[in-house]
Amino acid sequence: MKKILGFLLMGVACAFIANSAFAASYNTSTNWFDSKNVSHLNTIGQNIVKANKMPASVTFKVTDNEYMNENNTTTTQYVYIYSGDLKYVENDNELAAVVAHEIGHLVNGHYSKSSILNNAISSFNPNTTTEKGSTTVSLLKVISSNKVNKDNEKEADITAVDLLMTAKYNPLALISVVYKSDIAQNGGILDENLSCEERIMNIYDYANYNYPAKVKENYKTESYQSALNLIYANLKIRNADSKKLAKAKKEQEKLQKDKLKRMKNMAKSTNPWSAAYSMMNLSAQ
Ligand SMILES: [Zn+2]
Repeated sequence: MKKILGFLLMGVACAFIANSAFAASYNTSTNWFDSKNVSHLNTIGQNIVKANKMPASVTFKVTDNEYMNENNTTTTQYVYIYSGDLKYVENDNELAAVVAHEIGHLVNGHYSKSSILNNAISSFNPNTTTEKGSTTVSLLKVISSNKVNKDNEKEADITAVDLLMTAKYNPLALISVVYKSDIAQNGGILDENLSCEERIMNIYDYANYNYPAKVKENYKTESYQSALNLIYANLKIRNADSKKLAKAKKEQEKLQKDKLKRMKNMAKSTNPWSAAYSMMNLSAQ
């Protein structure tokens, strides 16, 4: 009885939390510039950043200009999420997935070969800010998917899986959001756009190799079924071919080795995102 009562109370408490929190369901007509949505996106970003012990003084914002950061040399401490990437987001897990993917680019330094991140470093630590009363902050460039090469996308995706896991979001949400956006843009991903299917398989394989329990737990999650059906079709073909199976296993072992190497390099990095990610993952090895 006590248990039942406790359970009921918990239910009431959860319902209260759910009601008092901002409604976390979206669709293709969601206005991502609405202040409530921007603030919610920022909260999700903060959750990921905090859970992964990353630079906490950053603010997540929405932009409708895919290229707005590209030539911008002003220094502002924002991470911009392109509104086009948010179009197919339907829940918090998917929102977290889009944000984590962009942090994945930051962590791997895909666009930080310039002074932009050096400026960011000083802004993250007030002790190293030399200008008196300076509010100098850096714009962290967020480059959209089609602006970076395939390897960068892959790296950002698998890093996002790690970040999502640590922050207790569902890593499969990254698969479903990629799947939906491609279906909408290209009418299907099976034959038309192999690179997208590859991307989905890469995310799945990485998640399944590194976090099998989490992937298993979500097999029956309805919102991921369409994307998972595509994955299952691929797995069926692969499982029937021992060479393909061995190749996939080798690929994951290689990714694991590459990741370890990359993290060791990141540990020496002056990029605070990389350094934090490296510490987190090296200690988890
Ligand atoms: Zn990307």
